[in-house]
Amino acid sequence: MFDNSQESKTNLSELGEFGLIEHLTKHFSPKLDSTIKAIGDDAAVLKFDGEETVISTDLLVEGVHFDLAYMPLKHLGYKALMVNLSDIYAMNATASQVTVSIAVSNRFPVEALEEFYAGVQLASKVYNVDVIGGDTTSSTSGFLISVTAIGHAKKEDIAYRDGAKPNDLLVVTGDLGAAYMGLQVLEREKEVFKANPNSQPDLEQYTYLIERQLKPEARKDIPKLLKDLGVKPNAMIDISDGLSSEIIHICKSSKVGANLYEEKIPLDPAVISVCEEFNIDSTTIALSGGEDYELLFSIAQSDYDKIKGNPHLTIIGHMTEENEGMHLITRANQKLPLIARGWNSMDKEED
Ligand code: ADP
Ligand code: MG
Repeated sequence: MFDNSQESKTNLSELGEFGLIEHLTKHFSPKLDSTIKAIGDDAAVLKFDGEETVISTDLLVEGVHFDLAYMPLKHLGYKALMVNLSDIYAMNATASQVTVSIAVSNRFPVEALEEFYAGVQLASKVYNVDVIGGDTTSSTSGFLISVTAIGHAKKEDIAYRDGAKPNDLLVVTGDLGAAYMGLQVLEREKEVFKANPNSQPDLEQYTYLIERQLKPEARKDIPKLLKDLGVKPNAMIDISDGLSSEIIHICKSSKVGANLYEEKIPLDPAVISVCEEFNIDSTTIALSGGEDYELLFSIAQSDYDKIKGNPHLTIIGHMTEENEGMHLITRANQKLPLIARGWNSMDKEED
């Protein structure tokens, strides 16, 4: 969402590649002790004393992962970091550095990229990570963003996907389905706007859903919360594709089964009402909607008292022996096989 019609737009060619990099990155100065050298040399230099390093990369493609018709560039910069930081927190680690690489077409003025980098900068400040490098190149088709996030953790704290054990409790943070329904609302408004460019959408009742789609927050607080509670997750994953596919990932990696209880799935009231409006089943949205960036983990039953009643955490089921399979137990007490239907298969587009 960048209005190209306003005056005073600077063409990318006016700065040139190196001028552009210098212009976009001049506000980034490293804050962390683990960042020895950031932007400005052939490579960044990092140092993590006595801890293991955790690295994750994601690629975001215009038209596949985001639509500039309703995604403001500042939000996009923020979200690009969230998507990656979420993966670091899902390892029960602390995120500390990111690299940001972009491919842009010359239809973008410098001011558009400044907006994008304002979002990157805000996220790096809020999440206390240093931007330590990246790459800048041109694109003939759309905007591409690749972020790599780096973090660290003590060896014994890292939570992999393969550590879940039968009888573990299955726990999720926050609530589910809001980001997907936010996207449905935005898509609908885009169609309305196309048909009638003078229409003034009233999106107030959808604020929470739209924020969850456009400005998601990664769960930086959870590794710390778990540490404070004295809980080490046996397995953990972030929810980027929908609850069911993430449960299946943990089960397959850990060689266990799972029972998920429909009535326990945490939903915001705004999700329930918008699902009624769109005539969609809210459980389906929680199971298969995407981009919630909450964390899903399993813990030993003996840790139950430590997490009981915590407002950030909901117990939604438990792990079973592998041969019992993976099931959703419905409100009507039916036992249905859990199927992986990530949000991409709900769209026409493939990821
Ligand atoms: P090289 O030719 O070695 O790839 P570049 O000229 O691309 O070097 O990059 C110079 C410095 O600027 C490097 O530290 C690189 O990591 C950083 N950099 C380049 N593009 C970006 C970007 N889009 N965001 C942040 N840092 C960048
Ligand atoms: Mg380069």
